[in-house]
Amino acid sequence: MITNSISSDQEALNPSLKAGEFSKEMEANPENLHLRSPPSPAATGSLGSRRLLDRSQFIRILLQALHSLGYSKAASSLESESGVALDSPEFTSLIFHSLSGRWLDCVTTIDSIPDLSPKSKSSAAFLVWKQHFLELLGSDDGLVPARDVLWSRISPLDLERGAVHRLARAMITSEDAVPGEDRVRRRIGMLLDLLGLMPDWVRVPSGRLEHLVETAVARQLESCFYHNSPEEVTLYEDHACTLGQIPSKCVQTLDAHKNEVWFVQFSNAGEYLASSSKDCTAIIWEIKEDDTLSLKHTLEGHVKPVSFIAWSPDDTMLLTCGNAEVLKLWDVMTGTCKLTMNNQVNRVISSCAWFPNSKKIVCGSYEPDNRIHTCDVEGNELEVWEGERMPKVSDLAVTPDGNSLISICSNREIWIRDFRKGTERVIPEEHSITSLSLSRDGKFMIVNLNSEEIHLWSVYTASNTPHRYRGHKQGKYVIRSCFGGSDCLFLASGSEDSKIYIWQRHDEAPIQILSGHSLTVNCVSWNPSKPHMLASASDDRTIRIWMATRNADKVHA
Ligand SMILES: [Zn+2]
Repeated sequence: MITNSISSDQEALNPSLKAGEFSKEMEANPENLHLRSPPSPAATGSLGSRRLLDRSQFIRILLQALHSLGYSKAASSLESESGVALDSPEFTSLIFHSLSGRWLDCVTTIDSIPDLSPKSKSSAAFLVWKQHFLELLGSDDGLVPARDVLWSRISPLDLERGAVHRLARAMITSEDAVPGEDRVRRRIGMLLDLLGLMPDWVRVPSGRLEHLVETAVARQLESCFYHNSPEEVTLYEDHACTLGQIPSKCVQTLDAHKNEVWFVQFSNAGEYLASSSKDCTAIIWEIKEDDTLSLKHTLEGHVKPVSFIAWSPDDTMLLTCGNAEVLKLWDVMTGTCKLTMNNQVNRVISSCAWFPNSKKIVCGSYEPDNRIHTCDVEGNELEVWEGERMPKVSDLAVTPDGNSLISICSNREIWIRDFRKGTERVIPEEHSITSLSLSRDGKFMIVNLNSEEIHLWSVYTASNTPHRYRGHKQGKYVIRSCFGGSDCLFLASGSEDSKIYIWQRHDEAPIQILSGHSLTVNCVSWNPSKPHMLASASDDRTIRIWMATRNADKVHA
């Protein structure tokens, strides 16, 4: 690999060392290379409560970090105070010998590196001798000495023979020969390739300290059982969320619906909540800055209960439908009905979903016949899947990339249709499925079964056993669940015992059970942009808004 920019190559070699300065210094004082002061006694030993960290290594990565932050003076002070140098003698030696064309010394240095395998030593020596060879080819009268290098230095190395043959051919074609004016640039390129073969202690990898700290923080986040705080990472203490970061306190009860509330869903950007009811209306609620909700629009026009709502991905439109009811498309800003998808056959659309461009929707219907069709927002049908073998579709979802359609068929099967591959996968379930919900990234789905279980499946990876979640009550009604939390680490579900159940994704038993409603909780929705906020819809005609305890205190303040 030869990079184009000399200056960036030089910086990549060592932030503390500009190649020009280096060459001058080394030409003047080559003995400096071999007279590095040994580490002072203070720089040896180990650090940390478990004595896992080598003090000298620790200082070297600090030096590297100081240089990369631009604090070269501080780095020099640290070097002289600790007696530990950022650059290993081997690294300094490789730079000097490579840039000054001392090929044999360069190979001797490579041979002196103890933990380099014979194969790597051969590859490294090849880079060095190849550079020498190509420079000779590029110089006057260099053909004979180049041939000598090829046969006496390169040929004995443990290499695939093709490499040697290519160089032999170059003696005729002069391909890749290095002319005098190109030497510095090509030597730097060779040196970078050479360093790539060396063990990491020879040269501290760039960004090593940041990498170590970041890895430690990432591990803490990954192992945080109640993780629900996207914004809060501090280096001053170990990260750990508590149960108090999960929505658990009811801060608002919305009672504008005149009958049972069947469905509730936050908009994709989390600025609105939509609810639908047996009272034949849907309501759009606006979330204010202080996290309270106020009624924005009541959507009137349906003549039968509204049981399903779907936000367009851009949150500008809303679809509503219901059992034995037409599909309506609403403008979110004005609250007006833009379209009623009625048709001659009085088709009953039971569920619908948007494609990611907010221009196409897919509808599932089972009266007068079972079918799935897609259409645009003007109501024009685009594709139709129907026929005698078409099962009854009760719920639908489209993955956020628009590549897969997931549908609940015949109550007991999950069908995943991959549009690009034209394939279909069927996951049979043990009991009747009442609802389907997708994770925000579209990689996982959960289904509620009337056997009082929620199953989590991967959308893309085939598996015979789902993750199971238990504890809630569901036998008679359609109960809906959702993913939630800052990394979709949690699941929430309504329940026929008037409660809301929350699970951590890796645990079968609920971690939180919320009481407050007085009748069945039909549906829950977790705010995608406010992981501390959850909404629930109940037969008691209310919607409740739940907050994490510390955010709840803020709302009441
Ligand atoms: Zn956490």
